[in-house]
Amino acid sequence: MISLPQDASVGERRSACLSALEAAAPGRRVELVAASKRQPDGRIEAALVAGHRLFGENRVQEARERWSHRRAVYPDLRLHLIGPLQTNKSEDAVALFDTIETLDREKLARSLAAAMDKLGRRPDCYIQVNTGEEPQKAGVLPGALDELHAFATGTCGLTVTGLMCIPPAGEPAAPHFALLARLAEELGLAHLSMGMSGDFELAARMGATHVRIGSAFFGARDAG
Ligand SMILES: *Cc1c(COP(=O)(O)O)cnc(C)c1O
Repeated sequence: MISLPQDASVGERRSACLSALEAAAPGRRVELVAASKRQPDGRIEAALVAGHRLFGENRVQEARERWSHRRAVYPDLRLHLIGPLQTNKSEDAVALFDTIETLDREKLARSLAAAMDKLGRRPDCYIQVNTGEEPQKAGVLPGALDELHAFATGTCGLTVTGLMCIPPAGEPAAPHFALLARLAEELGLAHLSMGMSGDFELAARMGATHVRIGSAFFGARDAG
C-alpha cells in the first residue's frame, strides 16, 4: 500500500499511485479511474491540472453537476459510472458516461439499450459480478454471468467489453480478483475493473486493466 503524508497534494498522490501501478505491472498500461465521490471540487480541479482525465462517479446526479460543464473545457475527459444504476436514470447515464461499469441485470440492459437507441450514443458496458455472492450486493452472480452477457450483447446489442467487481469487505481480495480474471477470459472480455485504494497494486499484478482509486488519489473523503 502506498503511504503519503495526510497533507500531500492531489498531484503528489496521483504520482505515487501511478508509480505504484507501474511497479506492480511493469510495462503494462493499467488505467487509473479516479473515484471522485464526495470529494470537494478543489481536489477535482487539482487532479485536472495535474493532467488526470479519467474519473469514476457513483451517482448520476452528482456526476452531471460536476462534469457537464467541464466536458467542453476538457474534450479528452472520460467518465466511468461505478455505482449502481436505476433504470429510470438510464438516459442520464447514457448521455453522460463513456463507460458504464455496473450493468448487472436484464432489465437494466434493456433500459440502457433503449436509451442508447434514443440518444444515438453508445457507451461501453462492463458487467458487475458479485464474486462474493453477498445477498445485498449489486452485481450478477457468477453462475448467471453467461446468460446476462448473452442477453446484453445478443438481444440488446450492447457493447460489453469488461467485468467489474467489489470484493467483500474484510476478506482477502485475491480469490475474487482471480475469479473475475478467469470469467473475463472465458468470455473473451478485454477489460477488468478491480482494485481500490487498499488493494489496487494486488489487482494490477493479477491482471486489472482498470483500478478505481478514491482516497489514495484524492485524500480522505468528506475532508479538506
Ligand atoms: C468509492 C469507490 C471506490 C474507491 O474507494 P477507495 O477505497 O476510496 O479507493 C472504488 N470503487 C467503487 C465502486 C467505489 O464506490
